[in-house]
Amino acid sequence: MENELNDPNVPVPDELQSAVTITSLDRIYNWGRRSSIWPMVFGLACCAIEMICTAASRFDIARFGMEVFRATPRQADLMIVSGTVTKKMVPQIVRLFNQMPEPKYVMAMGACASGGGPFKEGYNVVSGIDKFVPVDVYVPGCPPTPQALLHGLIKLQQKIDNQSIKAVRWYGQNASEAVPIPVLGPDLLDPRQHALLAQQAGQPGDSAETLEA
Ligand code: SF4
Repeated sequence: MENELNDPNVPVPDELQSAVTITSLDRIYNWGRRSSIWPMVFGLACCAIEMICTAASRFDIARFGMEVFRATPRQADLMIVSGTVTKKMVPQIVRLFNQMPEPKYVMAMGACASGGGPFKEGYNVVSGIDKFVPVDVYVPGCPPTPQALLHGLIKLQQKIDNQSIKAVRWYGQNASEAVPIPVLGPDLLDPRQHALLAQQAGQPGDSAETLEA
């Protein structure tokens, strides 16, 4: 089996292949992370069914070291946004993203998470989760098949392979800041909070009674 850790620019003689590895700090750092990406147990709609199928034995996601779906964001490396993103769910999604420790990645799975899908510009759906959290990989389809999701995971591995420990944001001087949790407002309208939002915006608000009338 090919030794993934070997630096291809520094060839190792055949007789030493099984005993010697010449690598770089970046390569071994990225190899460790790309081989143990733990996704979060988190699904929103029909795409989530395909994501669940991907974890079945038939697709053997364990060969990528990704079979450990975690039930808490604090132990997850990857958020797979699988399904329709409603305005009601966006604050929860951003809150979960903020609770994930660095290094963390986001994958938009399917047409809905990538851009709204068949519900684009619907009254209750946002036009893509990338309006709120940074997305690393987009997986097209409605829904994407498990094979498409695996392809997206491989693309994420390739992205990790190209990162450098000297440049990654989580070791930089400016620590990653939490993404502001969207307030239900003009974009994420919650009719129940109309009076409060109007007050915060400095406009005269209708009272709850007026809204109900
Ligand atoms: S992209 Fe298609 S399959 Fe996926 S959540 Fe949207 S409607 Fe469902």
